[in-house]
Amino acid sequence: MNLHEYQGKEILSSFGVRIQRGLVAQNAQEAVAAAKQLTSETGTSWHVIKAQVHAGGRGKGGGVKLAKNLKEVEEIAGQIIGMDLVTPQTSAAGKRVHQVLVAEDVYYPGESETSEFYMSVLLNRGTGRNMIMYSTEGGMDIETVAEETPHLIFTEEVDPAVGLLPFQARRVAFNLGLSGVAFKEMTKFVTALYTAYVASDSSLFEINPVLKTSDNLIMAVDAKVTIDDNALYRHKKYVDLRDVREESAIEVEAGELGLNYVDLDGNVGCMVNGAGLAMATMDLIKQAGGEPANFLDVGGTADAARVEAAFKIILKDPAVKAILINIFGGIVRCDRVAQGVIDAYKNMGNITVPIIVRLQGTNADIAKELIDNSGLAVLSATEFQEAADKVQEVLAK
Ligand code: GDP
Ligand code: MN
Repeated sequence: MNLHEYQGKEILSSFGVRIQRGLVAQNAQEAVAAAKQLTSETGTSWHVIKAQVHAGGRGKGGGVKLAKNLKEVEEIAGQIIGMDLVTPQTSAAGKRVHQVLVAEDVYYPGESETSEFYMSVLLNRGTGRNMIMYSTEGGMDIETVAEETPHLIFTEEVDPAVGLLPFQARRVAFNLGLSGVAFKEMTKFVTALYTAYVASDSSLFEINPVLKTSDNLIMAVDAKVTIDDNALYRHKKYVDLRDVREESAIEVEAGELGLNYVDLDGNVGCMVNGAGLAMATMDLIKQAGGEPANFLDVGGTADAARVEAAFKIILKDPAVKAILINIFGGIVRCDRVAQGVIDAYKNMGNITVPIIVRLQGTNADIAKELIDNSGLAVLSATEFQEAADKVQEVLAK
């Protein structure tokens, strides 16, 4: 589950990680009120207004702006809320902004220079250990740093049995070129950050930039936090942080129906039981000259109700020109599935795209007979290749 910046920062802060302080606002008036409150708490009269959408690169797309007085807060917040923000990480249509974070300006001038660093915490699947990845090159695209100056990216692997050790935190601060107060601040920051990562059951923290302020404080200016869905049952208070407006509407609906569905760009809808078979089916469609419109695993009980639910979801995608149903009857009997397809097809009443059904396994022969005698415009196949050829045929028409 991905979180908004302001939600990620709240979690970090709850574990003692210093953050750029801010308040979320749904409209320009709330933004002004938020700015006033921040000024009374922090003393700073400049604020940054930051679009809250699940995409990075907001600064580049005009979704992060500095406001030097309350009038500018109102103007900028009014401008950003409601806009379709296009960043290097969104589609060309962009993402609608529903709320902004009004944050204290932390780039104020002072006794020393500000510096921006990069820091993330994630699982290294190769070694099976959590890893802190960090760089002196903060505020920019880490992919670019990795390509052009890979020697400026450091990693610190953590033994899960003992956690992050003090000498490791000091090594991070040292490699970032810090000394004095900032050095100490960084060891505290990275230690708290690692604790937060483990305790919140996150699968990714990406803090870009981590800022050294001009008075040598170390704080998170941005926060990309992904919580492991499989651990959400242990964190009831995080469940409500899900913002379904940020997710694909079809995927959310499919999730509510208990279907494993991922929206893709192609033209052939797939309905399959089992994730492995679903992957193989997508390969098959590509081989036949089509492009899968989705990944869909209907699970073990492919009965009429589930097949109908799956039809509804697949047909919501206007790009779908054919549907390939590929079911292996191991525990589930193929004749049951065939009857389910026939019933669902009749119930829907308005299916106009060609359907190819390939049923293999228990009672596959009876299933084929049922489909062939149903009088419906459904093509049956028993072999994988036969199904692929039929997909190719209907696409060519
Ligand atoms: P992203 O573009 O989506 O990664 O959003 P960030 O939260 O990283 O903000 C983008 C950039 O805005 C940062 O890299 C900073 O350079 C700038 N920025 C963020 N907070 C402040 C602030 O308080 N004052 C000023 N002047 N700039 C800021
Ligand atoms: Mn950032």
